[in-house]
Amino acid sequence: MRLVLIGAPAAGKGTQARKLVEYYKLAYISTGDMLREEVSKGTELGNQAKSIMASGGLVPDELIIAIVQERIKQDDCKSGFILDGFPRTEVQAEKLEEMVHIDKAIYINAPDELMLQRITARETCPKCGASYNKISLPSKVAGICDVCQEGLIQRKDDTLEAGKARLKTFHDQSEPLVEYYKKKGILFEVDGTGQLEDITKAIIQELGALA
Ligand code: AMP
Repeated sequence: MRLVLIGAPAAGKGTQARKLVEYYKLAYISTGDMLREEVSKGTELGNQAKSIMASGGLVPDELIIAIVQERIKQDDCKSGFILDGFPRTEVQAEKLEEMVHIDKAIYINAPDELMLQRITARETCPKCGASYNKISLPSKVAGICDVCQEGLIQRKDDTLEAGKARLKTFHDQSEPLVEYYKKKGILFEVDGTGQLEDITKAIIQELGALA
């Protein structure tokens, strides 16, 4: 099963992706995580992406497409994968379609106001990428990752200012993908304001037939 996840920043894409990866035993591909790793390693790509990411923009299509193209060739992707954060533009979606058949695009829909609240209260594990929320989804021990016990951080782009810019980027460049996948007949839209478990259940119910 090959899935893509679409949604505004902090809509819960990463959290849902991790649940689905576990449930369906799929490879998890987060382009955001991959880029953050490049930034922390100080590679050429990371240096190119760093300021774009901090300002809430998108890294150039050709760069991210090349990364995904290589990643999905790896062995762990053979029995399926979830793309979290890719595609984010129509050009990316078209290129992805040339690379591989996608079974379902899941759109987690949630209002901007709630997303901004979540962005500024979000804590992320720099080691495994798990995401928490100081208000709605705190880690068991404050400031420590439940999964790998690493100290949690606030992402540089999880500030109010960068959050607003990322929401604008989402509406301008990524939201048109909802129509794109609707036209292809593979869109599943889920309300992202509900309880995490209910959202996961709704997605699994929809995907049941594909599994
Ligand atoms: P995320 O962790 O998915 O919120 O991604 C963090 C940042 O990485 C985004 O705000 C973009 O700057 C960059 N990024 C991640 N995925 C993509 C993509 N598919 N296309 C362009 N930029 C991306």
